[in-house]
Amino acid sequence: MDYTVTPLSEIAPKVASARVAFATGGTRPLAWRKATLERMRGLLEAREERLLDALAADFGKPRFEAWFTEIGFTVGDINHTLAHLPGWMQPEKVATPVSFKPGVSYIVPEPVGVTCVIAPWNYPVQLLLAPMTAAIAAGNAVVAKPSELAPHIAAELVSLIEALNDPAVVAVQGGVAETTELLAQRFDHILYTGNSRVARIVMRAAAEHLTPVTLELGGKSPAIVSRNANIDLAARRIAWGKFVNAGQTCIAPDYVLVEQPVHDQLVAALGKQISEFYGADPQTSPDFTRIVNAPHFHRLEKLLDSGTVAHGGVTDADTRYISPTVLTGVQPTDPVMGEEIFGPILPVLAVGSIDEAIAFVNERSAAGDKPLALYSFSDDDTENDRVLGGATSGGACVNGTLFHISNPNLPFGGTGESGMGAYHGKFGFDTFSHQRAVHTRSTRLDPSMLYPPYTAKKQKLVRRGMTMTDPRDALSTLRNKFRRS
Ligand code: NAD
Repeated sequence: MDYTVTPLSEIAPKVASARVAFATGGTRPLAWRKATLERMRGLLEAREERLLDALAADFGKPRFEAWFTEIGFTVGDINHTLAHLPGWMQPEKVATPVSFKPGVSYIVPEPVGVTCVIAPWNYPVQLLLAPMTAAIAAGNAVVAKPSELAPHIAAELVSLIEALNDPAVVAVQGGVAETTELLAQRFDHILYTGNSRVARIVMRAAAEHLTPVTLELGGKSPAIVSRNANIDLAARRIAWGKFVNAGQTCIAPDYVLVEQPVHDQLVAALGKQISEFYGADPQTSPDFTRIVNAPHFHRLEKLLDSGTVAHGGVTDADTRYISPTVLTGVQPTDPVMGEEIFGPILPVLAVGSIDEAIAFVNERSAAGDKPLALYSFSDDDTENDRVLGGATSGGACVNGTLFHISNPNLPFGGTGESGMGAYHGKFGFDTFSHQRAVHTRSTRLDPSMLYPPYTAKKQKLVRRGMTMTDPRDALSTLRNKFRRS
């Protein structure tokens, strides 16, 4: 499949025709939302082999890994959305304070209009189609742009979107110039996934039109390992989370902070785990991904100079291979600790205590670098609670890695430098919906208390009515008295 850049002159008309399609009201009914998602799912399933071939061509994604992180994930997301969508679309009746009776109040989710989804290259299927699923579920038109850095799969994704043959769901293909032109258009919501430098460009462009943004970014996600953890299990789960997709995962454990007494044991267990996953020579493993392009390969190669290589450290520029690598003796000031690694290199740093690890993470958070994910490994629940309570992050997983993003009942999003807003499941539907406040007054009664003339009697009644405690609020206050903090 050929990668064809969208001519700049075609971008504004594409967005304009999506706006016309939205304006006709065709995207609002449940029937359109369902049918579009079902067709998208059908195309994903029918084109599975083509999609897996393209992912392998771009950066050697192993087929099964590509299936479960990309196609399986997205199909599951669509299935979850289809199962719940009629319920999510229902207006939610909320209480009306006694003083504002007679009347009823509702929150009505409304489509926002024409939305824009800009995706990166690392999970190109999931990160384009899952936000699109949410936008379509919420009844919007969508303009989608895959990343130019994974051109084979980008071409497949554009072809898949074009096969929907729907003017309300369109794609733009290209890189910086095309995205710049796209961002000059007016959208009603933009969801961008990628790095925080470009996120600032996206947000600046969005500000011109006062367009709300959801920014799904990255950063350094720590794993904290206690002396009370099951070390072999921690090593297995950290190695899996780190080396899936060769570490090119936004929520991969970026580095490990381990309590000194179990440092050597963890490092040895990580080495054993790498051999179990990928064999004695991971370069020959069919289950290990390559680095996406030469600039990223050379960036990562330089990071291998930090600390000492405990496992791995093998590179091959021709095939953009970097072996699963564990570094020890790394200093917090080393280059590998200065930026998000986004590759198969895992620094393991010893700390004197869990509190020292929390302080380490917090020092970075205070500088704005709040992690996208935080991983805590301990068999002592109070210790895990201390880590989660002591340091913030977009999401967290206890005694595991990555799994928290697979549950559609949990929001997926960052905080601070790791992003703003969230999606997945109902959270995605809400992100792409406007929560409209609707209050319907009864026409049978028309209390005149707020109408002029403001007589002394009216003033007395209104003052008392508006400040008296609503019976429901009183009940809630009472309940909270018995709730443990
Ligand atoms: P990328 O280079 O593919 O860029 C992402 C998108 O931004 C692409 O569509 C690209 O065309 C566009 N873009 C690039 N430069 C631009 C510019 N100057 N103006 C306008 N648009 C531009 O991907 P990336 O940024 O290298 O992705 C990796 C980063 O994304 C990492 O930091 C990673 O942690 C993060 N990430 C976050 C998530 C998440 O869900 N939170 C998921 C994956 C990746």
